[in-house]
Amino acid sequence: MGRLQKILIPFLGLVLAFWFYSARDTFKPEMLRGKRVIVTGASTGIGEQMAYHLARMGAHVLITARTEAKLQNVVQRCLELGAASARFVSGTMEDTAFAQHVVREAQTSLGGLDMLILNHVGASYFGFFDGDVEHVRKLLEINFLSYVAMTTSALPMLKESEGSIVVVSSMAGKVGFPFTVPYSATKFALDGFFSSLRQEFTIQSINVSITLCILGFIDTERAVRAAAEVLQERPAPRDECALEILKGAALRRRELYYRYSSTRLPLLLRDCAAELLDYLVRSRYR
Ligand code: NAP
Repeated sequence: MGRLQKILIPFLGLVLAFWFYSARDTFKPEMLRGKRVIVTGASTGIGEQMAYHLARMGAHVLITARTEAKLQNVVQRCLELGAASARFVSGTMEDTAFAQHVVREAQTSLGGLDMLILNHVGASYFGFFDGDVEHVRKLLEINFLSYVAMTTSALPMLKESEGSIVVVSSMAGKVGFPFTVPYSATKFALDGFFSSLRQEFTIQSINVSITLCILGFIDTERAVRAAAEVLQERPAPRDECALEILKGAALRRRELYYRYSSTRLPLLLRDCAAELLDYLVRSRYR
């Protein structure tokens, strides 16, 4: 009996601990019901799919991009799918004032904000760095500075709701990629800014989570058009990618890797075998 107790009690403890931690980590769509969410770059691609998932979960969705006609269609579809509300603001993220205006719209129309999903990305080229400094500056404004501006404007509302910031980045923001030098630079900048900001939130006991999403190759029109011919691997589906981002955000994960096998696992090599990782990255290209 004594021996049985010695085995049984620690075993039950382990089962309970496993149950507690796995229950805490389980995503449920209800987590996002009624939440007020901004999704940038939602006229197409991964952002559009995030808007649809959020709509199915019953969230209030505020989407933005430049192309009004596409945004109108996405809003219409969100309402059909069950969004608590859906609206859009159109404009360009080259303009910091516009980025701030989108956040103010959430304040006016939704009365606050629970989640800020920063996802938009400006057009760049696929090829050797051409030395165009103005292009790098413009891309930094769209892919980086507007993220900073929106975060700064949204922070009072996010502090109040103890909400979340979601930053959509890339493997190209964690390891040097050839042929996308300006794009990679903007994605590395996001990691520096948001990982440092997360540290400051912890020091100041600010309960706003920051989830940095490290994505591999996803089957959006833009990415497939730019890279399908030259990349050896098959792209992952954008609707699944969008759902994984939302799960990671709802669970307040620090970083999210999708797909895990083509992002997290190779990155494990970065510190112990950087040159091997560089070689593996180069060998992805035909
Ligand atoms: P996408 O299909 O090209 O969509 C980009 C979105 O950004 C569109 O809604 C676009 O709409 C908007 N946008 C572009 N320029 C803008 C501007 N100047 N101002 C405001 N909005 C602008 O992109 P995606 O492939 O879904 O990528 C989404 C995110 O995932 C990006 O941050 C990207 O870096 C990241 N990611 C993607 C992949 C991939 O393989 N697809 C891989 C790694 C990371 P308008 O043109 O209407 O403005």
